[in-house]
Amino acid sequence: MSEPLSIERLRREGERFLQELSREFYESLSGQKGTAELQPIYQRHRAIMSEDALELAREAFVGSAEGSGERRSARVLLDWQTESQSSRQLAPLDEREIAWETDAVVRTPEGHEIPFQRTSIELGNSVDRHERATIEKARSALVEKELAPMKKERYQRERDITEKIGLADGYNATWELLSGISLTALHDECAAFLRDTQPVWDDIAPRTVKRVLGMALRETTRADALALFRAREFDQFFPAADMETNIRAQVAEMGIDPEAHGRIRFDTGEREGKRSRAFCAPVAVPDEVYLVLRPHGGQTDWNTLLHELGHALHFAYMRPDHPMEFRWMGDNSVTEGFAMLFDHLMQDAGWLTRYTGLERKQAPEFLRSAGFEELHFLRRYCAKLIYETQLYGGAISWDALPDLYVELLTGATGFQYARADAFVDVDPRYYSARYLRAWQYQALLTETLVERFDADWWRNPRCGPWMVEQLFGEAQRELAHEQAQRVARKSLSFAPLVRSIERMIG
Ligand SMILES: [Zn+2]
Repeated sequence: MSEPLSIERLRREGERFLQELSREFYESLSGQKGTAELQPIYQRHRAIMSEDALELAREAFVGSAEGSGERRSARVLLDWQTESQSSRQLAPLDEREIAWETDAVVRTPEGHEIPFQRTSIELGNSVDRHERATIEKARSALVEKELAPMKKERYQRERDITEKIGLADGYNATWELLSGISLTALHDECAAFLRDTQPVWDDIAPRTVKRVLGMALRETTRADALALFRAREFDQFFPAADMETNIRAQVAEMGIDPEAHGRIRFDTGEREGKRSRAFCAPVAVPDEVYLVLRPHGGQTDWNTLLHELGHALHFAYMRPDHPMEFRWMGDNSVTEGFAMLFDHLMQDAGWLTRYTGLERKQAPEFLRSAGFEELHFLRRYCAKLIYETQLYGGAISWDALPDLYVELLTGATGFQYARADAFVDVDPRYYSARYLRAWQYQALLTETLVERFDADWWRNPRCGPWMVEQLFGEAQRELAHEQAQRVARKSLSFAPLVRSIERMIG
């Protein structure tokens, strides 16, 4: 006879389930195993993803007092259970999309054939605007006809499944209840950020586009934006050979063991089938965390390693006595915030001149370009969040969404977006909100670290131990805005980001 369901069993078996999934991803993406076999893992642990498990989590949530520790745990467990219900039911749709994306080929009228998954790389690398326009036209026609209807069905189903669970009135209210985050407030902050930074954007975007692409901003599409941000004039200053050594040295200088006493394992070997982008796989938290990389150098590679290292340090320095829901789940704005805290070191002139090949006299030009890119990504993400609140909100019909998508994204960036991408360019379950809050949090943290540990906090030996104790150790028990209040005594906002962008673009 199997053990009856209880919160304790959900925790114990849930952690085992997450460890098995994570190991499967690690082994397949690092090339140690052909394909990830996820179905047997789901099958083995189906009891903890059943409707009874959801009911149990719902009872724990409803039965706990508001503001209590039990409520905090129960909210996270119920969020996980709600997500499990839709992941389970959406699995066949997700598999259908992955199969399509693996096989699809974009064909131009000239007979040029590009695997669908390579199109953004090809667009980014193409220096011929007419070629980009031809590829983009073929890509968006294919997406509109085949991928967009699948994606649209997926989001319709996800909204229905979540709303049927009946926790709150509609998808957005359910997400707010389960995450503890106000979408309305974030939406308004995004709108204000877009409004406040419009004059700066109107000033620098046309000039930069003209200089790099030789085009007027109003004649560009998102395909040209890919080429614009792919122009890596500084890659030579970020050599592959120094990357891991120098970044590890910096972490050690601030008083943190980059291997976390053996808990972080750097998987740097060459292996067939290994992903080219660095990634972090927490197979057991905090004891067995993999940082997988294949150093090829360049700005993006350094950036990705720093980002993934931030995640790895967070996982490996979490206090082991936190219950599993705070080590594996919770507000991902926190872990993304630490990852971004590290990748934003690439915007610090002192750090750049000490650990990369960039020289002091080249820093201002590099930072201007980084500031422009940062402003673009933030404006794009703000517009996405505003759009996604409509997509999930239900007040606008599904058929009217593509026009709204084009209006919002084109309006925020100046690059013409395609209707075809309205259901493709979406972060499921508001991951965009986690990113935006992480962005705000890392900017606030950077200011706090400068105040506490000086401008070169990243090599202050007192800084690392503080970070381990005050930030990483706490896992994801607090929401990002709660942690910001505790360590910086300030609310999350775009203000520190605006300050840092202004500093960079001068
Ligand atoms: Zn991340």
